[in-house]
Amino acid sequence: MKKDECIFCKIANGKIPSATLYEDRNFRVVLDVGPATKGHALILTKEHFDDIFDIDAETAGRLFSLASVVARAMKKVLHCDGMNVLQNNGSIAGQTVFHFHLHLIPRYEGDSVQITWPQGTLEEETKEELIQLIKKEI
Ligand code: AMP
Ligand code: ZN
Repeated sequence: MKKDECIFCKIANGKIPSATLYEDRNFRVVLDVGPATKGHALILTKEHFDDIFDIDAETAGRLFSLASVVARAMKKVLHCDGMNVLQNNGSIAGQTVFHFHLHLIPRYEGDSVQITWPQGTLEEETKEELIQLIKKEI
């Protein structure tokens, strides 16, 4: 998709209105229009990055630092019982808007959000293979 057609580029840079909780030079924090729970918020980068594979580490670091501040503010106000910090990359992973964003999803006892998966087993052979291969790429 062309960057000038990206809806989150437009929202992040104030070209279309949004329910903004916070804004600075690099980021805008908005309420999700289809909230999983009360207070569901998104941290958007002002610069366009497709996903975690595209964003630079410095911006990602600043973004997570902001996430911790926003999460504390939300917990204080919403009195939520917990929070999921979630970030989808690729359609297979549930990404629907292809502009990097971090979800802050307040969790409440008895809510109907489901973020679970069937637990597998880490086999010895796979473990050794993955350590070998990934370690040297980091
Ligand atoms: P994801 O599935 O991780 O790509 O998340 C996309 C999120 O963006 C969904 O939770 C949508 O509800 C939300 N969303 C889509 N359009 C807007 C919009 N215009 N303003 C705020 N949130 C939006
Ligand atoms: Zn964008």
